[in-house]
Amino acid sequence: MIRLRPNIEAMAGYVPGFQPRDAQSYIKLNTNENPYPPSLQVIDAILAEVGERLRQYPDAASRAAREEAGRLYGFDPEWVIMANGSDEVLNNLIRAFAGEGEEIAYVHPSYSYYATLAEIQGARVRTFGLTDDFRIRDFPACYEGRLLFLTNPNAPLGFCFPPEYIEELVGRVAGTLVVDEAYIDFTDGHSLDLVRRYDNVVVTRTLSKSYSLAGMRLGLAVARPQVIAALNKIRDHYNLDRLAQAAAVAALADQEYFRGCVAKIRQTRDWFSSELRRLGWQVIPSHGNFVFASPVDGNGKRVYEALYQRHILVRHFSDPQLAHGLRISIGTREEMERTLAAMAEIG
Ligand SMILES: *Cc1c(COP(=O)(O)O)cnc(C)c1O
Repeated sequence: MIRLRPNIEAMAGYVPGFQPRDAQSYIKLNTNENPYPPSLQVIDAILAEVGERLRQYPDAASRAAREEAGRLYGFDPEWVIMANGSDEVLNNLIRAFAGEGEEIAYVHPSYSYYATLAEIQGARVRTFGLTDDFRIRDFPACYEGRLLFLTNPNAPLGFCFPPEYIEELVGRVAGTLVVDEAYIDFTDGHSLDLVRRYDNVVVTRTLSKSYSLAGMRLGLAVARPQVIAALNKIRDHYNLDRLAQAAAVAALADQEYFRGCVAKIRQTRDWFSSELRRLGWQVIPSHGNFVFASPVDGNGKRVYEALYQRHILVRHFSDPQLAHGLRISIGTREEMERTLAAMAEIG
């Protein structure tokens, strides 16, 4: 008889965005990947690691990558932890802070993977809704849960909470505020300063989107050294392999290439958003590398299917709060021109 933990047996498991087998034959705008390749310096750094040295374990402390990230963000390396994708560090934050039966919270709509991770841990999950002007609905004066996850910029909607509002929330959580900044590089501003000023703030980042490295699985968190030390106890000791560590250092070091890619995506995003509005779509002003937009008839599913027929893949959510629209990742200018032409045709 197979005796699983009841919560594991009961849970559904997270369903990642669809990855078609013949991805080349699609315009793929469904998982917020970057349309541009990683920096050539990243490729060179990875190739330099491929060889005899692979028989040896990587640096368990990912020291070079933490130093590079610390330099970039203005923190000592003791304030930084590298992760096998930011998903890994989100998981370890829950394991570090929320025991069985304890509560974590996040905003709905945002990144539902927090709920999956909490279910694995046996933690309870609370969701807070949003007001029409994108503030958290009915947030208590003092939230007593162990963790509050704020996805900022929000995914899938693309809006940002104002910095003074985030700071207000820090004062309203008894536990720890985790600001998931997966998309922060596509806008101005960030919450790293709050990490310096408050001991209950953690910021997570990923190299998947803005650094074009979704395939390498690289993320990081910035937090107080005591928090980083706790996360270090929990993680796999060799969580980043040699190729990933080399890639992280090279990617973070090549800021010129990074800034060029981000600027192109922001420009394409803003152009695409205004063109969609001209077609009569409602578009939420986006701070990410995607837009959330709804067609005139409010039938996201219909347009999703018509685009899919034309081999253009976007993201449709069946959640009733999101079903009217689509989340469309920003590709190259040419990909977005073709997507727009298809949308005009579909109507
Ligand atoms: C993509 C994404 C992540 C996961 O990033 P990885 O580094 O690829 O694991 C985390 N949070 C949000 C909101 C994301 O969109």
